[in-house]
Amino acid sequence: MSSLPRATVHLDNIVANWRTLAALHPKANTSAVLKANAYGLGTERVAAALASAGCDTFFVAYPEEGAVVRKAVGPDPSIFILNGPAPASMHLFHAHSLIAVLNSPAQIRLWSDAGSLPCALHFNTGINRLGLPTSMPETDGDALRAMNPVLVMSHLACADEPDHELNAAQLAAFRKITDAFPGVPASLANSAGCYLGRDYGFQFTRPGIALYGGSVPPARIQLRHAVTLDAEILSVFPVKAGDRVGYGATFTAPQDMLLATVGLGYADGVLRSASNCFIGWLDGVPCPVTGRVSMDLITIDVSKAQPSAKAGVRVEFLGANAKLEDQAARANTLGYELLTGLGTRVERLYP
Ligand SMILES: *Cc1c(COP(=O)(O)O)cnc(C)c1O
Repeated sequence: MSSLPRATVHLDNIVANWRTLAALHPKANTSAVLKANAYGLGTERVAAALASAGCDTFFVAYPEEGAVVRKAVGPDPSIFILNGPAPASMHLFHAHSLIAVLNSPAQIRLWSDAGSLPCALHFNTGINRLGLPTSMPETDGDALRAMNPVLVMSHLACADEPDHELNAAQLAAFRKITDAFPGVPASLANSAGCYLGRDYGFQFTRPGIALYGGSVPPARIQLRHAVTLDAEILSVFPVKAGDRVGYGATFTAPQDMLLATVGLGYADGVLRSASNCFIGWLDGVPCPVTGRVSMDLITIDVSKAQPSAKAGVRVEFLGANAKLEDQAARANTLGYELLTGLGTRVERLYP
């Protein structure tokens, strides 16, 4: 065992979360979004675990990511490439049987010129990020249908705010799209979209973050943590009231305290915005971060965890105690950013 920071990935919990999401939409096929190295947790291992559990549809951002998924899941599952095709990547779609999501008229032209590989059509119903104009099925309906899309899709802007009016507006706009493509499967919901009710399910749901234990579902839905991030204590030492800690001396000890410095920093993905607000758990005892997070080190107050605080002992910064979205909120961010920011130096373990 090394003394590197460690991310233990709980593949069983990821599979359990996928089943939990699937149970919300029993009539839909629940896919899995694996972009950005499966949200930092390792594309191959996550893809293989989900494929073994029966997941047969995957989404990633780039064809290079799609090639990794294809190797892990074998020839049968469908793999969609959300960012669509580019001239330099066309060969990868052929070589790995990837399905391009077409997001713009230019991508449609590129794909049409390349022959008749399967594609999905992505419509912009209000997020204004990627997607074809919703007017296109009226102006160019026959041409679009002639592309024989295997999926029509759109993406919600505010699914994490259930009462936002844009949700219902996007749903209504998407229904019009699906009407223009009779018999073609449709997909609208990301993780938070899956919590908005059966109307949002269509034929395919597209959860990402919820598989990895993130998002803030309604209380009736219980997700499991997908990763435990822990790191070793390097040094334990007392400070006196008035002593200051770390770069910039941003923490002043209010009383005599016992501190521990842990080998984990912003190079590993613990953002600088976690300074003075993240919590590490030592033997189940919460130990607040004191001072700034530096590149390789973080200092915590172990005054309440004295017997356990020793060099070589590991402190949990994400996991069963250090809940992903709670930690993210402390650092003024989201679970997405904490997971995808996990550094390359963090050893991934798959027990
Ligand atoms: C990332 C992404 C998803 C998954 O979103 P989560 O919020 O992680 O569930 C679904 N659809 C599209 C188009 C995406 O870009």
